[in-house]
Amino acid sequence: MDQNTNLLVVSAHAGDFVWRGGGTIAKYVKAGAKVSLVILSYGARGESNDLWKIEGQTLDNVKSVRRSEIEAAIKCLGVKDYEIWDYQDYHMTITPERTLQLLKKIRKVQPQVILTHGPRDAFNPDHETVSRFVFEASVLATSAGVRDVELPKIKQPKIFGFEPHQSEISDFKPEVIVDITDTYEQKYEAMNCFKAQKHLIEYYAAKAALRGNHARRCSGNQQYKYAEAFSRFFPLVGGELI
Ligand SMILES: [Zn+2]
Repeated sequence: MDQNTNLLVVSAHAGDFVWRGGGTIAKYVKAGAKVSLVILSYGARGESNDLWKIEGQTLDNVKSVRRSEIEAAIKCLGVKDYEIWDYQDYHMTITPERTLQLLKKIRKVQPQVILTHGPRDAFNPDHETVSRFVFEASVLATSAGVRDVELPKIKQPKIFGFEPHQSEISDFKPEVIVDITDTYEQKYEAMNCFKAQKHLIEYYAAKAALRGNHARRCSGNQQYKYAEAFSRFFPLVGGELI
């Protein structure tokens, strides 16, 4: 990755991009890549449980807390270009207009790489919906004949799926493991911005260490301490076995 790399990250809810890809995102930012982040919802309904325990809580207040958490977290990761689309979550519905909205965003960003949710998540239908949504919009973005879009078509980006919360139950297999040792501190700080989901911080800290172990075992590189795992939507293509 370098300053010619465009990475588009699509996160279903407020914190997903941090728990599942924060170290990798910070790595791309550090390398000078152009990182664009779209957060489709605040996760106000399904991923803000601690906030709803407060008496007299309102939807507007939950959203505003989550907005400040997002803003603090992206600061830790160094992301500057971000949008929150404020879709309703749990459950999230995708309309043709929304597909067009994402298609336009993809053509504008022209990403070589998209990072989003993988196809299976046993306990989170929104994540599966978003996986399909991003896949479809990205394929449409490559087609010259799509209606109502002025922006030129793009080449098919590579798409990588986040590791779901319950990996084995969701049939997740790490197909790519990214070393995040250099940006782990940033990820840890970003995770700590999410007070509404405090219980997840230690869980994802442990997961980064576990994947770090796998990274060492698979590569022989003992410098890898922390890592994040992803699935691939398409096969790796090249001129040799790499
Ligand atoms: Zn989520």
